[in-house]
Amino acid sequence: HAHLNMPASFAWARGLEARPVAVRFAPPTGSRWRVATQLVGTADPLTWAAPDLAYFMDSPTELSAFTLRDWTVAGPGGRTDTIRIALHHEGTDAELDAFADATRKVVAEQVGIFGETARFDHQVYTFLADYLPWASGDGMEHRNSTVVSASGSLAQDAEALLRTVSHEFFHGWNMERIRSAEIEPFDFTGANPSHTLWFGEGFTRYYDRLTIRRAGLLSDSAYAAMVADIVNAVVLAPGRRFFSPMEMSLQAPFVDAATSIDPSNQPNTFLSYYTWGAGIGLGLDLALRGGFEGKSLDGYMRAMWERFGRPARRYALRRPYTVTDLERTLGAYSGDTAFARDFFARYVRGRDAPDYAALLARAGMLLGPVRPRAAFAGALTLDADSAGATVSSATIAGTPLYAAGVERGDRIVSAGGAPVRSEADWQTLLAARAPGDEMPLVFQQRGREVRATLRLAVDPVLEVVPMELAGQRLSEAQRTFRAGWLGSRAER
Ligand SMILES: [Zn+2]
Repeated sequence: HAHLNMPASFAWARGLEARPVAVRFAPPTGSRWRVATQLVGTADPLTWAAPDLAYFMDSPTELSAFTLRDWTVAGPGGRTDTIRIALHHEGTDAELDAFADATRKVVAEQVGIFGETARFDHQVYTFLADYLPWASGDGMEHRNSTVVSASGSLAQDAEALLRTVSHEFFHGWNMERIRSAEIEPFDFTGANPSHTLWFGEGFTRYYDRLTIRRAGLLSDSAYAAMVADIVNAVVLAPGRRFFSPMEMSLQAPFVDAATSIDPSNQPNTFLSYYTWGAGIGLGLDLALRGGFEGKSLDGYMRAMWERFGRPARRYALRRPYTVTDLERTLGAYSGDTAFARDFFARYVRGRDAPDYAALLARAGMLLGPVRPRAAFAGALTLDADSAGATVSSATIAGTPLYAAGVERGDRIVSAGGAPVRSEADWQTLLAARAPGDEMPLVFQQRGREVRATLRLAVDPVLEVVPMELAGQRLSEAQRTFRAGWLGSRAER
C-alpha cells in the first residue's frame, strides 16, 4: 500500500496557503488499489481536492486494496452522516464485521453526548485503519477522518484497537471543532504549544474508555480497573510537585512522538496531560453529578460544543476557546461561578488531586490499597549482565529507593546481605519483608561504593472495586448515580 501523511509527503510554497489544491494519484498498474481519504472527490476517481493548504495537510490518504464498511447516523433536522471504516489488514471479514459493530455502538454513545455528530464537512467520516504486522502504532485525529495504525491484529488486539478508535472519533468534537485558540491557525513550521492538552487530549482520554463502557463492551469491574489506572497515575505522580496540567500540556513537543535520546528525569518531573487530564475529567464528572442536580461532564461538553464547537458552515470553526472560556463555561453550565473558579484554581492552574475516594463512593466504588501488607521500595528496573545489575531508569521521588540515594546508572551489589543480580533476585528479597523493615543496601555509584539503609514502606498503589464485588450492598442512590454515569446515552 501507499499511506501518505501529507506534511511528510508534500512541500508547499509560502504565500499560496489559501489556494485550492488538487492532487491526482497514480496507483501501480495492475494493482487493485483504491483511495480512502477525507479529501473531496471529483468526477475522476483518482483526482481529489482540498479547499486550501490547511485542509490538504490535514487529509492523510491510504491507497490500497482495503476493505470498506459503512453505516449512517441520523441527526437533528433530517441530517445524515456516513461513518466508514477503510481497513487494510491481514485478518478476516468476520473480524472486521465484529469490529465495525463495536465501533458503531461506541460512535452512537458519543453522538448521544453531543446530540449530533461533529457535523462532518461532507457528511462523511472515515477511519483509515492499517493493522499490519509491519505498521507502527499510532492514532491521529483529523477533521473528517482519523489514521489508526498498529502492528497488532483484530484477532489479538481488538480491545486496545477499539480504545484508539473511540479516542480519535471523540476528537472530531473535542480538538477538531471545540478547538484551542493556541493551535489555530496551525503553524506547520512551528511547535504550536498549547496550555489546554489536559482538556483536548485528557478529557478525550477520559471519554474513550467511558463510552466503550457505556456501549456495554466493558464490565463495571473492568472499567473500575481503568479508573484505578488514572487515579494511581494522578495521586502518586511526583511530577505534580513541579508543574500544573497547563504546564504539562506545554511539554507536548518533548513527549508526544518527538522524543530525544538525551537522558531526562521525566519519570519525576512529568505527568502525562492525557492521564492527568483524564483524572481531571473524572473528578469533574463525579463532582458535577454529586453536587449539581441533573449536571454532568456530558452536559459541560455539550455546552462547550454549542458555544465554541458547532460550525456554522463547511470547513469553519465556530470560536476557538481559551482557558478562561473553559472556566466561564463551567460557571455558566453549573450555575456556580465560585465552584468553577475554585475547581480551576485547584486542579487546572494548581496541582491538587481530587478526593477520589469520596467522589467514587457516590457511585458505590471503593478506593483502597491493593497490597496493604506488601513491602514497597519503589519501582526499580535493572539491566542484568554477567557483571551484575544496573539501575536502568530513574528512581521515583518519595520512594524508599530514592530516599536511600539510588540513581539511574548505579550498580546494585547486595541487599539484606544477599547479592542482587537480576530483578527476580530483587523481587524475592522484597517478598520476604514487610512494611517498616530496614534492609542494608550496597551499591556502586560513580566509582564509589555506597552503604545505605532502605526503609521499606507500604505499597501505595490503589485499586477501585465495585462495592457489590467486595461483599457490600449498593444503596439505591449509588445504583442510580452509577447508572447515570456508566449507563448508555445512545438513542436506540
Ligand atoms: Zn488524542
